[in-house]
Amino acid sequence: MVEKNDRNRSRKGLADDGRSDKTKLITSGRDPFDNFGIVNPPVYHASTVLFPTLDDLDASLAAPFVGTHYGAQGSPTSFAFQDAIAEIEGGDRAIAFSTGLAAITASLQAFLTAGDHALIVDTVYGPTRSYCDRILKGFGVEIDYYDPLIGGDIKTLFKPNTKLVFTESPGSLTFEIQDIPAISAAAHEIGAVVLMDNTWGTPLYFKAFQHGVDVSIHAATKYIVGHADAMLGVAVTTEEAWLPVRRATSLNGHCAGPDDLYLGLRGLRTLAVRLKQHQETAMILIDWLRRQPEVERILYPALEDDPGYAIWQRDFTGASGLFGIVLAKPFSREAIVAMHDGMQLLSMGESWGGYESLMLPRNPARIRSATKWESSGPLLRIHAGLEDPDDLIKDLEGGFERLRKS
Ligand SMILES: *Cc1c(COP(=O)(O)O)cnc(C)c1O
Repeated sequence: MVEKNDRNRSRKGLADDGRSDKTKLITSGRDPFDNFGIVNPPVYHASTVLFPTLDDLDASLAAPFVGTHYGAQGSPTSFAFQDAIAEIEGGDRAIAFSTGLAAITASLQAFLTAGDHALIVDTVYGPTRSYCDRILKGFGVEIDYYDPLIGGDIKTLFKPNTKLVFTESPGSLTFEIQDIPAISAAAHEIGAVVLMDNTWGTPLYFKAFQHGVDVSIHAATKYIVGHADAMLGVAVTTEEAWLPVRRATSLNGHCAGPDDLYLGLRGLRTLAVRLKQHQETAMILIDWLRRQPEVERILYPALEDDPGYAIWQRDFTGASGLFGIVLAKPFSREAIVAMHDGMQLLSMGESWGGYESLMLPRNPARIRSATKWESSGPLLRIHAGLEDPDDLIKDLEGGFERLRKS
């Protein structure tokens, strides 16, 4: 076991202090009385770390990944962010990355080598799929995609060389909810690890480690940073999964920048209040959207008539502000352009999880192979931001009017 003395130990103690998540978001990853009484931890800019004697340097080399050794291995700034995320999600430890995608690719590499077989959910984030197809397959890893609704029947896809199951719930773009406990139980029976892209659920609304996940990955770029101003990723692990992921991280040369880590830590403090509002606004917008004749379907697991509702209610403690709508017929390109180009508040752009609302058309059919995506019309992905919902509805009213007229 690796010593955990890279932790920025809090005077008030780390986990298991009986505090609620809301309080942990405020207290974790900082210790004012180790820091001149200043509330927030400092930002360390570091590459070289000095050792007073050769013996000290050798001792550090003999204990890899303990404490500070070189900038890329971490500093009190990354330790603070990592400790906070691990504590809130209930994992053992965490590793920070420059992007969410880097956290995903390093975690995949940590457990896969030539000749291994990996099962990847068909509704996985597009770039994760591209990494599997373009990089992992080229290195001799066998990849199969599976139906997100497969549950415990995932065992029918296992091969003697299956080493890893990758999950993402809800699925990118189409929001299918996976039965993570059933998938994890099956995978663990054959000694395979379970990775999850938990970006939508966040460390607050899906407690990955209570549901059998070994590595829970977040694009912190989204809700954790929360202000559309930094790229950041994090992999939270069990005690056993930490060393392989930590090694793969270092061997790939990954690390997160100190100012971005600081923004991640700052975003964390308000995560609970922001998510509550994102969810509330999403529900208000959905209530309006489902009354429009042009909307055929809403993709959001927190709705009672959503196919994923039962499992979402069983396993999640909340819903975030990202959802999809499926239009009832194949509108012309001109109609979709008129709708989107005229929006004032629901802007077009990649990413989500910031304070601002977003809307853009997406085509999930192109990135499926194990399942088929069929719909009467285009899918629009909406992020409910923190604006007044009444103003967002006015903006949507204008959008639907332009859609109808074109
Ligand atoms: C954005 C996103 C990522 C990648 O995060 P980056 O920080 O942009 O690399 C991974 N997974 C999901 C579900 C995402 O939405």
